[in-house]
Amino acid sequence: MGKTAYIGIGSNLGDAVGEVKRAMEALEALPLSRLEASSSLFRTAPVDAGGDDFINAVVQLSSTYTAHELLTRLQEIEAAAGRERPYRNAPRTLDLDLLLYGDECIDMPTLQVPHPRMTERAFVLIPLLQLDPFVSIPGKGPAHEFVARVSDQRISKISAP
Ligand code: AMP
Repeated sequence: MGKTAYIGIGSNLGDAVGEVKRAMEALEALPLSRLEASSSLFRTAPVDAGGDDFINAVVQLSSTYTAHELLTRLQEIEAAAGRERPYRNAPRTLDLDLLLYGDECIDMPTLQVPHPRMTERAFVLIPLLQLDPFVSIPGKGPAHEFVARVSDQRISKISAP
């Protein structure tokens, strides 16, 4: 059913582990989508952001939303988690990124897919590759080819598997 979407989840405020788990539940509850797989939770150093370590994960959905509709659903889940944006890259309760949407390439002001910075971020690549070691990034190539470039970014698995 539908297209394969990968969603990046991050939190570094308050009960970050709880926020990520609640986000996974909210994504699982979305109509027009099915949660196919969830990565482990990872603890990661902030990249281009302030505050404490982040908790990150990636989930795979199959979805019949359009990419823009799915982004709107993600923003609703972020809003429900009480995200505030006092300044750019401030610590955040919950950040949801649409990383990949099937083989779609979208470059609009409100939505870029594949997510433009995903190949530079260990906190995206490592959980993504856990879900599919052979996943390819449209226009860029196999995700695993980018891992060596982010090997200086601290990331450790904090939950099974
Ligand atoms: P951020 O503060 O990093 O979460 O950025 C949120 C903004 O990025 C929103 O205004 C979105 O419209 C925009 N955006 C563009 N592409 C994406 C994407 N692939 N996933 C999530 N947000 C996106």
